[in-house]
Parts: sequence; C-alpha cells; structure tokens
Amino acid sequence: MSRLLFLDVDGVLIPFGGPSGHRHRTFLPAPPPDADNPLLARADPAQGARLLALGCELVWATTWGEEANVSLAPRLGLPPLPVLDEPDRDEPDRDDPDRGAQAGLQWKTEPIVLHAAGRPFVWLDDEIGVADRRWVAAHHPGPALLHVVDPVRGLGEDDLGAIRAEIRGWPAGP
Ligand SMILES: [Mg+2]
Repeated sequence: MSRLLFLDVDGVLIPFGGPSGHRHRTFLPAPPPDADNPLLARADPAQGARLLALGCELVWATTWGEEANVSLAPRLGLPPLPVLDEPDRDEPDRDDPDRGAQAGLQWKTEPIVLHAAGRPFVWLDDEIGVADRRWVAAHHPGPALLHVVDPVRGLGEDDLGAIRAEIRGWPAGP
C-alpha cells in the first residue's frame, strides 16, 4: 500500500520570512525575481530532492492548484504531481446543516481523506488545526501524520526527520 504526502506551498515550500529567515538569507545571493510571482524566489530548489527521498507519492494540496506544477515543480526538480482540487465553495451542499460540525475545517481536509482512500499519508501544512485532526481521526482508518510546519522558516530538516521517523513504521506497500 503506497504512502502519500500531501504538500502545501505557502508557509511550507515558500516561507513567509521574518527575523530568523532574513538573517539566514541576507548573505545569500538573491535569486533573480520571477516575473510572474516574486514569492517563487523564496522556494529552496533543494526541497524537491528532499521530498522525493521520503519515498511517498507526492500530491499538491494548495490553493496554487495546477499552477504549482507550472511554476514551482520545475524549480524544485519535481515531476508534475497530482493536484488536490479546491472544492467549489458555491456548491449547494456546502450549506448542509451537517457541515456545522466541521467548523474550522480547512477546505483540503476532506479531499485529502477522500484522495488517500485509507492509504497511509503525511500532510505537510502550516495551518493544520484541531478540527482538521478530529476530522482525519474520525474518517481515515489508516496511519496519518498531520505535521505542522513553522511558516516563518518553512520546511526544515527537523520536519523531514520527524516525518522519516514516523513513516518508518508504516506499511511500505506492494
Ligand atoms: Mg499554507
């Protein structure tokens, strides 16, 4: 059974910066600003190889949508990845009273669980909350690691180490 890794972009692959981030980056040569999105310059091109080395199937779980494959994946050395679709917020059943129990849930939580379909998964995000954890615990039967990344500095080696340690005990799959 294959393992999945759902990947957020903002605050994970693109850190929001701040005092520590700036201190680190001040001495690096500034990459040329991207004409379309200057935030891309904050993405570390080495992250792609680090993520691939985890041995999981990577899936974009970000409001970037397909744009992540167009502008970010090549920069990170990642192949085009499946994209978790953002639900249409105007669809009628979003007003279903049952959804009141999902207050505080991120838009991607339910699609992640559906996409995983019981397979073990890691979710890397800077905004995972209590409601997301409860939803996954109640609706996903397999192993799941909901790992929160510090958005100021983005994905780091300590995050990757925690993921490696956790998934080591998961079924490796066929
Ligand atoms: Mg984010």
